[in-house]
Amino acid sequence: MTQRDIPPVQRTRAGPLDVSAIDSVEVLARYAAGCVACPLYRGATQTVFGRGPDNASIMVVGEQAGDEEDKRGEPFVGASGRLLEEALEQAGLDRGAVYITNAVKHFKWKPSGNRRLHQKPSISEIAACYPWLQAEIRIVAPQIIVCLGVTASQAIFQKRVTLRELGTMPHVAPHGGTALATFHPSAILRMPDQEQRVKAFEGLVRVLSSARGYVSRDDLGEYREDFTALT
Ligand code: SF4
Repeated sequence: MTQRDIPPVQRTRAGPLDVSAIDSVEVLARYAAGCVACPLYRGATQTVFGRGPDNASIMVVGEQAGDEEDKRGEPFVGASGRLLEEALEQAGLDRGAVYITNAVKHFKWKPSGNRRLHQKPSISEIAACYPWLQAEIRIVAPQIIVCLGVTASQAIFQKRVTLRELGTMPHVAPHGGTALATFHPSAILRMPDQEQRVKAFEGLVRVLSSARGYVSRDDLGEYREDFTALT
């Protein structure tokens, strides 16, 4: 792709454009940079789009950019990104081989003194941003999606769900692919109890290991046995 193929940033008040013909994440990200489909673009520095290979077997979906990600324009580069990287490493996965994105592409926050405090995106904001995530899934076509936290799970499963309801087993998601869920690294970092944090981190590593196991097999039945052994 040449620079000429990448469209200039355009504002649209009609929500995300019809992006069904776009077959490159880079071009998609360029369109998303001008998105004004929900109010979140107003307070954020920039869209934080997904990063990783266009043909990754595993897609990891988080909630939204944090303060540092908003400034740098990259997902998972702050403290939660470092924890995710450690978990990927322990699961035997190379961060560079995984496509990492968020359910919501702009940072939602409220001021607190000179700090910007994270705010959870609403159901309508998750829904407004879903066409971008849906297009990423179509282009990357991952074999499995790992949802980090409730917001990502709600976006992928297109309904209100809890991590408890989803458990650690894989499910067929509405997009037709397989997805599983675990804690968001930020949630792990916020846990007040060290023992709880260790347990949740181990859970994150287990789910990522399971995703790795899944993509190295084409038979789901065999995978399920393996998954049971891992959890
Ligand atoms: S959060 Fe998503 S839907 Fe809302 S303006 Fe940003 S890119 Fe558009």
